[in-house]
Amino acid sequence: MSHRGDLHQRQGGLTVAFHGVRGSTPCSCPTVRRYGGNTSCVSLEVPGADPFVFDLGTGLRPWGATFGPGPHRIHAFVSHLHWDHVQGLPFFVPLHRADTRLDVYGPGHAGEPMGEAFARFMCPPFFPIEPDELAGTIVFHDVHHETVEVADATVTVRPVPHTDTTNGYRVERAGRCVAYVSDHQEPVGDPDHVDEGVLELCEGADLLIHDAQFTPAELVDRADWGHCTARYAVEVARRAGVHHLVLFHHDPGRHDDALDVLCAEAAERGRRHGIVVSAAAEGLKITL
Ligand SMILES: [Zn+2]
Ligand SMILES: [Zn+2]
Repeated sequence: MSHRGDLHQRQGGLTVAFHGVRGSTPCSCPTVRRYGGNTSCVSLEVPGADPFVFDLGTGLRPWGATFGPGPHRIHAFVSHLHWDHVQGLPFFVPLHRADTRLDVYGPGHAGEPMGEAFARFMCPPFFPIEPDELAGTIVFHDVHHETVEVADATVTVRPVPHTDTTNGYRVERAGRCVAYVSDHQEPVGDPDHVDEGVLELCEGADLLIHDAQFTPAELVDRADWGHCTARYAVEVARRAGVHHLVLFHHDPGRHDDALDVLCAEAAERGRRHGIVVSAAAEGLKITL
């Protein structure tokens, strides 16, 4: 397809927009300004249809500020319940309106439904109110290993190796396919192994948004922290026949200039396999 690799927004199609691209914790300082300091949040929008969003990190707040008058129906796909993937929820302005409905798909934890887990971290003394005290309606759907029809899309959900129960998603919508694997443990001692479920999610995707938090040296010291290198992200893309890989979940300590270098190295590696590689940045939009 001739549009591939084109990073400019255009009319129609499926637009992937990055509102938060950091992992672990939000960060704010001049050296991270170009790529941005908000945590995981990526929207998937088709003109005239309900918006989708991957994860509810702090990037959810600025995205929410772009919404006009309601009613709104939004579908969210949460990878897991670590802070950097859920912390934006209370600050999502559309939920301060009674005519907003947010459907949240994601994993429970150790037998506990996801909605109950949300109510455990969003409550006093950690936060003044609980989720059901927001004006809008939130409907939680526990998913982990299944395929669901959501609005006009087919969404495949598979477990992803990380430190706690984690989902990856494959969204087929408007004739396009986007895979989202935000936090992914690189197999220690077996860097060429790729989980079967992850390959299912990524197979032939037009766009893969994938963890690339660590350099190889960092991975040595943080081998069981649940993340991977850009090299491994390229390996996943290569094995799955992905055309465009977006490096994501940047380390909060990675300054812009270092991220330029990390991305350039991965892009060179990707070129050898015919894969376009770019780095996620706040404000980046890709229309497929
Ligand atoms: Zn994370
Ligand atoms: Zn995590």
